[in-house]
Amino acid sequence: MELLRKGKVKSVYLQDDASVIMEFRDDITAGNGQKHDVLRGKGKLLNSINEIFFKLLSSNEIPTHYLQKLSETSFQARKLDIIPLEVVVRNYTAGSFCRRYGVEEKKKIGPVVEFFLKDDLLSDPLICDDVIEALSIANADEISKMKNVALEVNKVLKDFLMDRSVILADFKIEIGRYGGKLMVGDEITPDTCRFWDENTMNSLDKDIYRNSNDKDPLEGYEEILRRISK
Ligand code: UDP
Repeated sequence: MELLRKGKVKSVYLQDDASVIMEFRDDITAGNGQKHDVLRGKGKLLNSINEIFFKLLSSNEIPTHYLQKLSETSFQARKLDIIPLEVVVRNYTAGSFCRRYGVEEKKKIGPVVEFFLKDDLLSDPLICDDVIEALSIANADEISKMKNVALEVNKVLKDFLMDRSVILADFKIEIGRYGGKLMVGDEITPDTCRFWDENTMNSLDKDIYRNSNDKDPLEGYEEILRRISK
């Protein structure tokens, strides 16, 4: 099969005109690829977590690219025309939000939707609605729809996780066009979300890897899988 794209942690293969196969590798990266490791079993773990979240969105009538799991580490998806934006929703302050605005971590906010331009060479800069339109990345109607989709995804994930004693602090999604509709694409995993244990406020996501060199991130990822499998 033709390799369409080898990202930092996933490979995307072309299946036919309308579908792709996405494979989670065992790579983990942080700081725009500056920190990199291979964690055995990570791909399988992420594929399982991703499947649960995407099926949850589908069962809540949110259109997504997800079609079916194909192997331990891969799934089949609709081939979207991805809009090159990272759509971030925040329920609590963390990460780049705190650095950018000089605010304390772990404060409840929002939900707040932010857009970032997906461009590694530019380190994914924050982008506002007017610039998204001016650069013809998306039109006003699509921007408004993307915000609504992001907030709907937030509601579904947040409530589902809260029932499992996990706080959804923030997350990133990517959205693409498919047959005149907007759909959620890419992945929803502990690599792209901040999950905090409700009782300890400890991270169960990639922050374990971002912030420490001796903790095993997969322990947090396994805990997330355990909780969302219930
Ligand atoms: N995020 C992501 N990919 C990116 C940047 C951010 O999946 O390239 C996710 C990140 O895991 C977090 C949310 O988006 O759940 C907000 O990230 P933030 O802007 O705080 O950036 P960070 O400090 O994580 O780089």
